[in-house]
Amino acid sequence: MNTWITKNGIQIHRIICLYANVYMVTGHGHCLLVDTGPVAFQKFLARQLRRMDIYRIHGVILTHTHYDHAGNAAFLQKNFGSRIMVHPAEAGYLKKGLSSVPGGITAFAQVMERLASGIEPKMLEFPPCEPDKLPVSEFNKPFFDMLVTVMATPGHSPGSVSVVVDREVALVGDCMFGVVPGKILPPFGDDVSQIISSWQQLLATGCDIFLPGHGFGVSGPAVEKNILSLSS
Ligand SMILES: [Zn+2]
Ligand SMILES: [Zn+2]
Repeated sequence: MNTWITKNGIQIHRIICLYANVYMVTGHGHCLLVDTGPVAFQKFLARQLRRMDIYRIHGVILTHTHYDHAGNAAFLQKNFGSRIMVHPAEAGYLKKGLSSVPGGITAFAQVMERLASGIEPKMLEFPPCEPDKLPVSEFNKPFFDMLVTVMATPGHSPGSVSVVVDREVALVGDCMFGVVPGKILPPFGDDVSQIISSWQQLLATGCDIFLPGHGFGVSGPAVEKNILSLSS
């Protein structure tokens, strides 16, 4: 499924940029984007938005500033008049157009990390963008008159946030992965225990589906199972 509609009529559309998801949230006359995809998919993203008759996006919320989520922020700011919102802890990365480098969590990611240590840092760069910081005072409050709130869900990166829509659907960035069925721990991240406590906070929102930055939606029971298996 690529579209979700909440009980109060807020629509969430998933735009799949090959390996990274961008979500468009519309309702009450507003249009928000959660994440922007990698810069290599700029034309694809613009085409998808125009196909949906979207020429202006009021706000873009970045779940974090890795290149595959923040790559098109500058483009959207310039061409769609978007206010770009990011957790204050990661505003500096956005200004520089540089991803923070998370450590490998899984054994596979740790091998990848060692292999990647000689890789051109340019791979992690993206067009820099002047952010409209997401003030901490706006956290957990309804946003743009929509039934949308932003909550801090650190662990994958220091300023990772999730967007909760109508207490039904949460857009969680890389706080969860939806690529390998049943295993939601992101392969890379700063702090596993922080990730688990972010999962617990997300479950407490009452949402029953969690839409990640990569792969498919994760159900509440799947999150509970992962918490249990990592805590034992
Ligand atoms: Zn990431
Ligand atoms: Zn990612």
